[in-house]
Amino acid sequence: MTPAKSCDGCGLCCKLIGVKELEKAPHVWCRYFKRDKGCAVYEVRPGGCADFACDWLLDDQLDEAWKPDRAGFVLHTSGGGKTLNVDVDPANPTAWKRAPYAETLALWARRGAAEGMEVLIWVARRCWRLEAAGGLRDLGVQRDETRFASGGAMRRKGSGKDWPASP
Ligand code: SF4
Ligand code: SF4
Repeated sequence: MTPAKSCDGCGLCCKLIGVKELEKAPHVWCRYFKRDKGCAVYEVRPGGCADFACDWLLDDQLDEAWKPDRAGFVLHTSGGGKTLNVDVDPANPTAWKRAPYAETLALWARRGAAEGMEVLIWVARRCWRLEAAGGLRDLGVQRDETRFASGGAMRRKGSGKDWPASP
């Protein structure tokens, strides 16, 4: 039996993802996150934090190499699962290009295209689409820097952790 996955030692979403309830912007560490200890307000953390689970946590097929703190990015879906977002830590913007990530992401983009799915690489406000035929298409700046989300397109269902809605 596959051991249950755990957030222990990670916390990358506490940096990369905005939290409406805290007015926490994306790409800055949450003021409650403590290295080696995790969330200092875990028992009373906002509902959005409690609801959020990245795709590494949800997908049994993704092994430890894909754990966000090790990979350097957080995976989450949007658009009813049609879009896989690869939210890369801006402190390490090329993390997704390393093995085994780049090759696997390209494979998902290629296979998913037939079903109308896409893989987007995000570095802060900027976005690239992994093309089914190979290569990257630069989609430019897609995120508003200052607004906080209210049901924006990037929101995982049931989660209050969110990116600002697209302008
Ligand atoms: S990024 Fe995923 S594994 Fe890491 S703390 Fe957040 S939900 Fe847990
Ligand atoms: S309050 Fe939310 S974002 Fe902040 S450290 Fe806790 S779980 Fe992470």
